[in-house]
Amino acid sequence: MTLARVHGRIEELFALSPGKNGGASRPAFSRAEARAMLLVAAWAREAGLEPSVDPHGNLWCLPPGDAPCVTSGSHVDTVPGGGRYDGPLGTVLAVEAASRAGGGRGVLVCAAEEASRFGAGTIGSRSMTGKLSEGDLSRLRDTGGLDALTARAEYLDALGGLPRLRSAPLERVSSHVEVHIEQRAALRDKGLSLGVATTIAGPVRHGLRFSGEVAHAGETPASERRDALCAAAETVLLAEELGRRCAPETTATVGTLEIHPNSLTSIPGTAKLGVDIRGVRPGGARRLLEELLDGARKAADRRGVYLEEGQISASEPTEMDGAMVAAVEEACARLGVRCGRCVSFAGHDAQHLAAVVPSALLFVASENGVSHAPGEAVAEEDVEAALGVLCLLMESPRGEPSVMLRGLR
Ligand SMILES: [Zn+2]
Repeated sequence: MTLARVHGRIEELFALSPGKNGGASRPAFSRAEARAMLLVAAWAREAGLEPSVDPHGNLWCLPPGDAPCVTSGSHVDTVPGGGRYDGPLGTVLAVEAASRAGGGRGVLVCAAEEASRFGAGTIGSRSMTGKLSEGDLSRLRDTGGLDALTARAEYLDALGGLPRLRSAPLERVSSHVEVHIEQRAALRDKGLSLGVATTIAGPVRHGLRFSGEVAHAGETPASERRDALCAAAETVLLAEELGRRCAPETTATVGTLEIHPNSLTSIPGTAKLGVDIRGVRPGGARRLLEELLDGARKAADRRGVYLEEGQISASEPTEMDGAMVAAVEEACARLGVRCGRCVSFAGHDAQHLAAVVPSALLFVASENGVSHAPGEAVAEEDVEAALGVLCLLMESPRGEPSVMLRGLR
C-alpha cells in the first residue's frame, strides 16, 4: 500500500494555519477548524461519501442511503502550535480506509476536541451524546471572553457550504473506531506498533482557594504570618506525593496557580489552585482527591489560612467495549501487527461515543513521546499497520460482515 496520499493530506492540514512555534494552530470552533473540516469533506466526497454537518459541529461523511455503517475518524482542531498527527492522523486514515473499502463505510470527525480554547475538550462528541447542553456551552469562555455557543455558531457559518443535519445520525453507526497517535512513548518501548485502549481515565478537576492575610514582607514576624501561598505550596507537593504513590493507576497535577497581590514585597493573601486528577480504576481519582483535600485543610489550619474548595468537573473512567477490543486484536493477529492493550489518561471522542455505540480507540506508537507540539512523530511502518488494521475492520470485500461486526455477534 502506498501511504503517499495519507502523508500528503496530513501535511496539507498541517500547513493550513501555521502557529508561532512552527506548529499548527486550529483552535476549537475557529475558522481554521472549519477550513480543515471543509478539506476533509472534499476528500470524503472524492471517496464517494456524502459530507454534512450536525448541529454540534461534527462532520459526517456517510455513504448514500440510510443503511447502518462502520465509522472511523478523529478530530482536526489543535492546541496552539500543535503537531501534525494529533487528530489528523486518525481523520486522514479514516478517509483512506473508507475509500479503499469501496463504499458502505463512513467518516466521523468530531468538532472542538482540544480543551485549550474553552478549558473543556471533546465538546462535539459530548454535545452529540447528550453530555453537554447548550447552557453548558454558553458558560464556557475563551480568554477573549467569547462563549463556546457563539463560537460554534460562527464556525457553523464558516461551514455554510455543507448540508446541515437536524441531529447527529448516530442511529446509522453500527460501530466506531478512532485511530490516534499515542501521547507518550510506551508502545515503542515495548516494541509494539499499535495499542488498543481498554480503559480511558475519568478526570476529576477541583479548584482550591486559600485565604490568609496580605502583610508586609519585611515587617511581619514569622509567627504572625498567615501566608496563603505557603499553604498552597504544601498542597502542590502533597499532590505530587500522592500522584507518585498512586501511580500508574492515578495521576495528580496542579496545573494552575494564581496569587494575590502577587507583589515581591507582600505576603500572599490568597492563592488559588487548579487540580487535575485522573484514574483508570473506578473511584480512584475521587479517593486521591479526598486525601489531598484532607492534607490541604490541615495545612490551612496550621497556618491560620481559610480554605474553600469546589468541583470543576468529575467523571468516572470509561471501560471500552470488550468485543471491540477483541475485534481489533483479531485484525492485528491476522495481519501480523504487534499490538498490545493499554489505557489512556488523555480524553478522546471515542470514550463519549462508547456510551451510545460500540467503540474502539486504537493508538499508533509515538516515535518520541512528544504530544501537542510540532515534534510529534510516527514511524512509516506503524502508520501502514494502522491503515491495514483499519481497512480490515471496515472492509467487507464480498459482502460478509467486517471483523468488527462479527466481533460483536
Ligand atoms: Zn487528539
